Amino acid sequence: MKNGNNCSKCGGEDIRVIQGKLPLTEHHNFTKVTPWKKIMISRFLCINCGFSEEWVEKDEDLDYLAKKAKQRDDFSKFV
Ligand SMILES: [Zn+2]
Repeated sequence: MKNGNNCSKCGGEDIRVIQGKLPLTEHHNFTKVTPWKKIMISRFLCINCGFSEEWVEKDEDLDYLAKKAKQRDDFSKFV
């Protein structure tokens, strides 16, 4: 939905963006990765069916997460 025109669930074309914003109001979307660091998350919403996706859009935030975020567990050797 961020990278295409249509909803990935219903094919709807009316996609709206709800930006993650600095918390000047209660209406924002972010994840707090440290007590001082917040990463804003934009939500892409299909008006037709209500499906939404969340994206970290800033390259600097992705770089930060690449360095600091925990890597997912490796279950490839799980029996
Ligand atoms: Zn949809």
